[in-house]
Amino acid sequence: MNDTALRALVTGGSGGIGAAICKRLAVAGHFVYVHANRNQAAAAATVADIIAAGGRAAAVAFDVTDAAATGAAIETLLREGAVQILVNNAGIYDDAAFPGMSREQWHRVVDVSVDGFYNVTQPLMLPMIRTRWGRIINISSVSALSGNRGQVNYAAAKGALNAATKALSLEVATRGITVNAVAPGIIATEMSAPLFDAATVAALVPMKRAGTVTEVASLVGYLASIEAGYITGQIISINGGMA
Ligand code: NDP
Repeated sequence: MNDTALRALVTGGSGGIGAAICKRLAVAGHFVYVHANRNQAAAAATVADIIAAGGRAAAVAFDVTDAAATGAAIETLLREGAVQILVNNAGIYDDAAFPGMSREQWHRVVDVSVDGFYNVTQPLMLPMIRTRWGRIINISSVSALSGNRGQVNYAAAKGALNAATKALSLEVATRGITVNAVAPGIIATEMSAPLFDAATVAALVPMKRAGTVTEVASLVGYLASIEAGYITGQIISINGGMA
């Protein structure tokens, strides 16, 4: 099996970590669908960067919480054949101390991670299974493993993703498909910037620095490769030594 020319979909490719993952997969030779929801200009910029570097990519846009829109978009992608590398990276946070957390805050965060996982992944499965080779990588968070004040919704959402990772990995273990989660700690992006100043990073991270999007993308790139074929059902932390 040659894994240098597969079709990959990265949800949230318009964001900081997602863009780095898209570029990493393109360097590995894959055709990358760079997904956005609202920030379609960012996805287009990443597609342009990939093509300028000699890679292949196209932008796609849909709200992963919108089952109908997501289903229609996935159906269009599948007309070209199976998507064999899927990175479920779209995610949001909306922090509040739990007694003050509104139902909307709860659902907004849970729906993107959990419904989004279902809406994107489920329709891709049968075509992927038929090819007998696939990689699914779910972007989780340290918050799901150790908890974080103000993030009951986010921890629950990412914890559900971790559990779904393990269950799905068992279903497809004999089909050449691996399913893993990557749980980053504090990664320097626009998402994390408002949450963690330098002093907070130094206090929380044994390595006393935030991780980079390239470091996360390298791990995802490895998990997406042929070499990682015996790793499945794992939640792999990348967090500078945080518990
Ligand atoms: P960004 O805010 O930069 O990116 C979030 C991405 O998710 C964007 O591309 C956004 O699309 C997409 N998205 C949000 N809501 C929806 C939706 N309803 N439908 C489709 N796409 C949506 O965040 P990061 O790059 O920092 O984070 C990427 C992932 O990594 C997330 O899952 C996050 O939880 C996780 N993570 C991040 C950490 C960090 O320190 N940065 C730490 C641990 C985990 P658009 O902008 O186009 O609307």
